[in-house]
Amino acid sequence: MENEMTLTFAAVSENEALARMTLTFFIASLDPTLEEISEYKTVISEAATNAIIHGYGEDPSGMVEVRAMLEGREVTVTISDKGRGITDVDEAMQPMFTTKPDDERSGMGFTIMESFTDNLKVESAPGSGTTVTFKK
Ligand code: ATP
Ligand code: MG
Repeated sequence: MENEMTLTFAAVSENEALARMTLTFFIASLDPTLEEISEYKTVISEAATNAIIHGYGEDPSGMVEVRAMLEGREVTVTISDKGRGITDVDEAMQPMFTTKPDDERSGMGFTIMESFTDNLKVESAPGSGTTVTFKK
């Protein structure tokens, strides 16, 4: 099956659930297992939260975009923001690396995303934003 969607939302924490639910509906036609659904939810939730919190510091004028594409049984999802960006992506992706240690962040977001996806790519530049792409 072929299908495609784009969702754009303001960088407020409430919209993390919007991204999660929208992606869950989008992949429903693949008849995913409960485990697969839970993995998609976790990944989109980590990436959307990063865009909202780290990308924009929860500034509601910042917009986050989620795109999803379905080709056969392959799903490609991109989550992008035009926020602060990441200076050193390799360092940011290390387990337990966080720039918000006092904020109950554990620095495990990227590690979790990597473990639940086939191919996680992070493109970022300071000042121009971050795009996370994964396939599943
Ligand atoms: P956790 O996800 O466990 O709550 P965390 O968000 O700090 O903690 P990661 O999701 O692994 O951990 O992200 C690591 C670091 O990468 C963040 O602390 C932040 O500095 C940076 N980062 C991640 N996503 C973005 C983004 N969209 N924009 C700017 N910086 C980001
Ligand atoms: Mg995170």
